[in-house]
Amino acid sequence: MKVVIVGGGSSGWMAASLLSRLMGNQLQITLIESDQIQTVGVGEATIPAIQHFNRVLGIDERTFLSKTKGSIKLGINFNGWFNADESYMHAFGAIGKDMGLAGFHHTWLKARSLGETKNLWDYSLNFQASKQNKYTTLPTIPNTKMSGLVHAYHLDAGLYAAHLRQLSEASGVKRIEGKVNHVKLEPASGFIESLQLESGEVISGDLFIDCSGFRALLIEGALKTGYEDWRHWLPCDRAIAAGSDRLSPLPPYTSSTAHEAGWQWQIPLQHRTGNGSVYCSDFMDDDTALNNLLNNINSEPLNEPKVIRFITGRRQKQWYKNCVSLGLSSGFIEPLESTSLHLVQAGLVRLVKFFPHKRINAVDVDEYNKQSKIEFERIRDFIILHYYLNNRNGAFWERCRHMDIPDSLASKIALFKESGRVFREQDELFTEIAWIQVMLGQGIVPRQFHPLADSLSDAQRSDLLTSLKQLIDGTVNQLPTHESFLQTMV
Ligand SMILES: Cc1cc2nc3c(=O)[nH]c(=O)nc-3n(C[C@H](O)[C@H](O)[C@H](O)COP(=O)(O)OP(=O)(O)OC[C@H]3O[C@@H](n4cnc5c(N)ncnc54)[C@H](O)[C@@H]3O)c2cc1C
Repeated sequence: MKVVIVGGGSSGWMAASLLSRLMGNQLQITLIESDQIQTVGVGEATIPAIQHFNRVLGIDERTFLSKTKGSIKLGINFNGWFNADESYMHAFGAIGKDMGLAGFHHTWLKARSLGETKNLWDYSLNFQASKQNKYTTLPTIPNTKMSGLVHAYHLDAGLYAAHLRQLSEASGVKRIEGKVNHVKLEPASGFIESLQLESGEVISGDLFIDCSGFRALLIEGALKTGYEDWRHWLPCDRAIAAGSDRLSPLPPYTSSTAHEAGWQWQIPLQHRTGNGSVYCSDFMDDDTALNNLLNNINSEPLNEPKVIRFITGRRQKQWYKNCVSLGLSSGFIEPLESTSLHLVQAGLVRLVKFFPHKRINAVDVDEYNKQSKIEFERIRDFIILHYYLNNRNGAFWERCRHMDIPDSLASKIALFKESGRVFREQDELFTEIAWIQVMLGQGIVPRQFHPLADSLSDAQRSDLLTSLKQLIDGTVNQLPTHESFLQTMV
């Protein structure tokens, strides 16, 4: 089977490297990219699942961190998302120790209601290590079975794509430099037959993967599948990015700081810091956004900042006929929880699971599209949650606080508010503890907790909380700094 990938951004090279690694002996893979059309050039924070992707490609952590000038990410610190002067963290990994079928937060809620404790994150190893800029590889807390540090990475996305290109070409992927200027469809089936380049060269294929970025050259330009616009829930539609000097000490976490009409990210890499502002053009103009960003970064910008326009939403059919869209061509959810590269990874894993044998079946395509839709929608709800639960002043934030939210999200919030319960649905990406941290961090205190929290006596509960805190603090004290960990890696 001939597979043709259009686009050499992160999504194109992720597709080429994974497909060549897993199915290289069955596929003839060509990737077309054009030096005339730049990649989007941002996308530097990830979630822990990227480790699986690297593992499958045979990229070990040392190589990854040194090739991408990457750093460790233990979570995202949200500043000013509820009240302007408060912060909380979405820390990866577990918090505390679950009590049978009831999450630890129920015990914490009971202790909190009695005034015995205040801060859930006292029991998060990831949070405490973050606050002290510490990290080392620690799968479990020493001498216990409790989960240790759970990490993702910050990375230079351009360097990552370059490394994936090297791996892909070494395993047989053919790269063609050229600009696609015409897509030829088979008249009877509507399938893509071939692509014509500016040079006149014609590339035919059986399966086409659209990684052409926001242009969506094949899936929209040629196949007109339509786009579901989610701006009524997620109204930010612009971003400006600018690099600045590296931070010292180097934080092992991403920062997201809310501002008047959106938010600003800070991503610490080994050689520089990635910064960017995401904003809503109805409430902030480009000049104001740029000035605010430049005032908030720690040095002169290292590049010419440019405005990126986007519409949050998803392609109606992410697979249509013989074309699968991945990355920005398949939809975009703003980078608040660093989910885009993960969606490329998840789309690719799904594509491998549904890979056509001999011919493309409509039932496979329908199921692929159904699963992608659910995945995008669950992530969308999690992002809306951050905007909806705000207590900030200003027209933008008031609009977010009063918007109608999807029923799926409304019922999740109602359940947590009433009983402290959260359930992960249909293989959704974010875990219960992720939802709990954002909901507690943004002002919801559940009215009740699980009855199992009453099974501990006052003394047992106090011992549990004290010993957990001591264990976590003691473990963090022994950790090296993030910076010294990275020095051992490069
Ligand atoms: C502001 C912002 C911040 C982000 N932050 C994060 C983050 O922190 N974490 C994260 O996971 N993701 C993030 N993302 C998303 C991430 O950047 C993208 O998902 C990722 O880079 C994939 O982009 P892409 O490869 O789909 O498209 P692009 O990078 O735009 O690449 C498109 C490719 O298609 C080629 N092309 C286009 N048209 C043609 C043509 N006619 N002929 C030939 N080639 C063509 C181009 O040359 C280019 O190689 C962010 C995105 C934005 C906009």
